[in-house]
This record gives sequence, structure tokens and C-alpha cells, in this order.
Amino acid sequence: MTHIDDFNRYESQVRGYCRRFDALFVRAVGSELFDARGRRWIDFLAGCGSLNYGHNDPDMAEALVSHIRGNGLSAAMDLHTDAKHRFIDAFVGQVLKPRNLPYKLQFTGPTGTNAVEAALKLARKVTGRHNVLAFTNGYHGVSLGALAATGNRFNRMNAPLSGVTRLPYEGYMGADVDTACLLERMLADPSSGVDSPAAILFELVQGEGGLGTASPAWLARVATAARRHGALLIVDDVQAGCGRTGGFFSFDGMDLLPDIVVLSKSISGFGLPMAMLLLRPEIDQWSPAEHNGTFRGNTHAFVTAEVAVRKFWSTPAQEQATRARAARVGAALQALAAKVPGACVKGRGLMQGLDLRDGTLADRVSRNAYSRGLVIETAGPHDEVVKLLPPLTTPDPVLEEGLHLLELSLREALGELSLQSA
Ligand code: PMP
Repeated sequence: MTHIDDFNRYESQVRGYCRRFDALFVRAVGSELFDARGRRWIDFLAGCGSLNYGHNDPDMAEALVSHIRGNGLSAAMDLHTDAKHRFIDAFVGQVLKPRNLPYKLQFTGPTGTNAVEAALKLARKVTGRHNVLAFTNGYHGVSLGALAATGNRFNRMNAPLSGVTRLPYEGYMGADVDTACLLERMLADPSSGVDSPAAILFELVQGEGGLGTASPAWLARVATAARRHGALLIVDDVQAGCGRTGGFFSFDGMDLLPDIVVLSKSISGFGLPMAMLLLRPEIDQWSPAEHNGTFRGNTHAFVTAEVAVRKFWSTPAQEQATRARAARVGAALQALAAKVPGACVKGRGLMQGLDLRDGTLADRVSRNAYSRGLVIETAGPHDEVVKLLPPLTTPDPVLEEGLHLLELSLREALGELSLQSA
């Protein structure tokens, strides 16, 4: 019996990633994964963006082990702990203050979808409205409220979803159709059939939806429309935040002040479950304990999150390194796109991908990559985008090696190479 037989026998069919990446992983360091026999894979998936600083950062590991050895609290609900205190101090000092962001912090249940639920509930409470505008190819999680805002039909299934109006994201109708204009018109027309929204919810880079991006000009118009019509602006930075696009937030430098920002995935820095909302103080209108949950105080996550913030965000070094690596990835992907008619590069920062316009081809590339030692997934409505999410800290030689493996995998998928040849 292999481990795969055991998992098939005992674990639910719902498993996803492990079907493609089916090794029994035992160890992970930086941007590399290892199985029991010591076989190595370069990790361009990075826990789907929850490991932006790589696996087992030694400083975070050290702080966590010493916290546990010292009998620090583990689960603390929303009690005051020294670890949470220190994290808040670091986050406000290193991330919010330098950006002049006045937010209050709300720690929600520990997943992205928990935090999106909380954001939608608060927006509805504050505005007294029900409807939420979300966009084509948006992904916001799979619990009912968040799922209503997620576009993907496969994820939505036959769930009883309501309270969301879908509008086309930037570029959805091609470069010639101005989708911000449509949004403005729908909101301004009391007969458009779109109920006045409590919130407009979106990602600046659509992580699961295929790496569509919103331009600063489009965002400014959406923000203006939100303000004019009394809707809150919610940025879902679960995947595109925490440095993924270069700056800490995906909207850094865009002169955009969302009412609510949703963070999860890499906020703990170490892959530990943690999520939070950033709230403009005026809209922090919760009553005490109105939105609670047992696991809002994962102290271990606060310990590593503090280290992550101090280590990577107290100087511009990581941001500069991410931007340099992103430029390299962009150039490498352009060269690959040139090999495939109609293919193009999508995304931003270290969240870019190759839109091959063909889900079967993208699937072959991902499978070939895995057999060559590279873990990389696909995204998009037809899974047609090969999506690169390497840790932001990936050393340049490892990044180059991963890009080379990707090239070989594409050439193999195109029939230019035989299986496993170099
Ligand atoms: N929002 C975005 C933008 C995401 O990418 C994800 C996860 N891929 C979620 C929300 C949901 O997060 P989680 O899977 O932790 O519930």
C-alpha cells in the first residue's frame, strides 16, 4: 500500500491539491519541499500565498519555539496577551503608520473566508443595506456569505447564495469596454435593478480567477462611485497582500483608502492560521462580542507575525527584492508566452502567470513541472493560467532553477521535448 491508497481510503474525496502533487511531504525549507526519500521540489505554490516568507523561517521558528518553551499561551480567544500586544505594536508601527493608514484591527476566525464574512456582515450593519457588489472571476472563500461573492461556478455548486450583484471586472469585456462606466451607470440609475450596495468587494489581483488586475484609474472610479452612493469599499488582500505584489498592500502607492481591508494567508508569516480586518475607525460599529469565534487569538501566529513584520517590513529591502524578482519573472514569462500563439502574461509582482488560453495545455505544464521537481498550479475560469506564487524570499538561483524547469515543462507540453529530457 502506498500513502496514496491510505489517503484515498480514509480521507474525503474533497482533497484537491494533493491529487496533482501526490508525494508524501516530510520537510520544507525556504522555497523547497522534500519527500521521505529526500526528493526535492521547488515550491512555486507556497501554500497558495500563505508562505510569502518561505517555509520555516529560522527567526520565526526560534521565536515560536521559545514562546512554547516558556509556557506562553497558545489559544487565547480575544484575551489580552503579550504576544498580541507586541504584534499590534509592530504592525501599527512598521506597516500602518509609514503608510498613514488610520485603521483599527479586528482579529477574526483564522481563515480568509472567516474574515470576508466578518467584513460583509459589518458593511451590512453599518450601512443598513443588504446587497454587495462583487466582480467576475473574483474569489473570496467558500463559506456561504463569502461564496456568494465568489464567481467560480464549481465552488458555488447549488448553495443557497444571495445578497451579491455581480459586475464585470476591469478588462472582462475586452480592452474596449469600460466596465467602471457600467458600474457608475448601474449605481446612478434607480431603475437599473441593482439595489444600493452596502459594499463593493474586490481583489486588486484576482488570485484564483486567473490573475486579472485592476488599474489605478479603474480603482479610483470604483472608489468614487462607492463614496457617491454610500457603499463601503472592501479590498480582499488575502492573497495579493502581505508583500505579494511588492508593497505590503496590493494598493500601496495608489492613493486608495479602502474602508475595510481583509488579510489572512501570509499575515502570520509562518503559515499559521490567522486573519484580520483593517477597519476605518468610523465604521468599527460592532457591539462587544457581536461577532465572535473561539480561534481569534492564535498566539503562536501573533508570535511569528510580529517577527515577520519586524524582519521584512522595517526596511525597504524585502520590497525592493520582491520587485526585482518580479521583473525577472515577468521577463521570463514574456519569453515563454512568445512560444504559444495567443498566450500572454498576467498578474503583478510575484503573483504573475502565463495565460495559455487552454486549460488542457496549462494542466500538462503543471503536471510536467511536478514530475521535473517544481510545484506550480493553474488558475482562471478554465484553469488556463499557469500561476507563479514563489515565496518572496526565494534566492535568485532557486528562482532561476524554477523558471528553467517551467520552460522545460512548457516545451515538453508543446511537444518540443521528450519526457524528462533536459
Ligand atoms: N480571498 C482570496 C482573495 C483568496 O485567495 C482566498 C483563498 N484562496 C480566500 C479569500 C479564502 O481564504 P481561505 O481559503 O483561507 O478561506
